[in-house]
Amino acid sequence: MDSKLKKQLRYLDGVEVDWNVTLAGHTSLRVGGPVSCLIRPLSLAGLRSAVQVLNQNHYPYFILGRGTNLLVRDTGIRAAAISLESGFSQVERVGSSGKIKVGAGLSLSGLLRFCLREGLSGLEFIVGIPGSVGGALCMNAGTDAGVMADVCQEVALLLSDGSLTRLSGAQLRFSYRKLELPADSVVLEAEFSLTPGSRENMREQLRQLLKARKEKQPWQLPSAGSVFKNPPGDYAGRLIEAAGLKGTRVGDAEISMRHANFIVNRGQARASDILALINLAQEKVSQKFGVHLELEIEVVGNNNKT
Ligand SMILES: Cc1cc2nc3c(=O)[nH]c(=O)nc-3n(C[C@H](O)[C@H](O)[C@H](O)COP(=O)(O)OP(=O)(O)OC[C@H]3O[C@@H](n4cnc5c(N)ncnc54)[C@H](O)[C@@H]3O)c2cc1C
Repeated sequence: MDSKLKKQLRYLDGVEVDWNVTLAGHTSLRVGGPVSCLIRPLSLAGLRSAVQVLNQNHYPYFILGRGTNLLVRDTGIRAAAISLESGFSQVERVGSSGKIKVGAGLSLSGLLRFCLREGLSGLEFIVGIPGSVGGALCMNAGTDAGVMADVCQEVALLLSDGSLTRLSGAQLRFSYRKLELPADSVVLEAEFSLTPGSRENMREQLRQLLKARKEKQPWQLPSAGSVFKNPPGDYAGRLIEAAGLKGTRVGDAEISMRHANFIVNRGQARASDILALINLAQEKVSQKFGVHLELEIEVVGNNNKT
């Protein structure tokens, strides 16, 4: 990033900027090289002006949620990362119905705490899923018990030209671990439709869902959740296990013994170790079962040196 752009970003109102930030500290896998800067807008005006300056300078940027679905390459990314955590984490009830309005930067655990406090049921399925509301919407995150598409009624976006828009109903094109959005748009907030429910029942459901998750998943080690999407009619984890790959290691990266669709970081893993395991799993499963495993996690970064 050249010094002229740095100066423009440094003096923007309503924006905090850190330079040359290593993303290993901002991703759940604990790997990944640097971004040019991490921008934290404190308001919509701050976000708008940061996006405008970046666009005017043709400098790439992306929204970093909590980095729980990302594998950032060791060489990092020549881009600015924008975090909505500081300025976009509000949550409020709309009227006396079950509708709530939530900022994209709020954590899913914060959202769930709010729902429990208000006695609003419908989002229990997110228990144990780390990440932000914006990231969960973009990924249509969920489990067999539900997905974001089930409860999301409307999404507010900042478009790359600086204008604001809202998408609702049929305009929201959710699919398996995906929400189609205009290029470079930023999810600002969303409306969810929930149902008033008993706090006691909700607590019991959360307890059961969390217990099941902890029994099945390697939750004590850094990971990015499921690495691959489940192919139609099957499970990626079952195929990887049947290909004999559970426990396979490259460096400190390991195909989890507990759940073969998780790759865990046992300490000092590098993105290149994780990518080597991803390639191995794809290759072996394709050879053995003729199935191509499609990535659920997003691999980002400069790929010329990894
Ligand atoms: C232990 C563990 C368990 C998991 N279990 C599950 C599970 O059961 N089900 C499931 O679906 N996922 C699961 N995940 C994956 C992950 O938690 C979810 O996909 C999560 O919702 C991603 O949120 P995030 O904020 O971390 O997004 P990030 O990983 O930071 O970003 C994901 C994508 O969304 C984009 N994005 C984020 N915020 C915005 C925004 N405001 N506007 C525009 N784009 C945005 C990013 O640019 C990126 O492309 C798990 C992950 C871990 C580590």
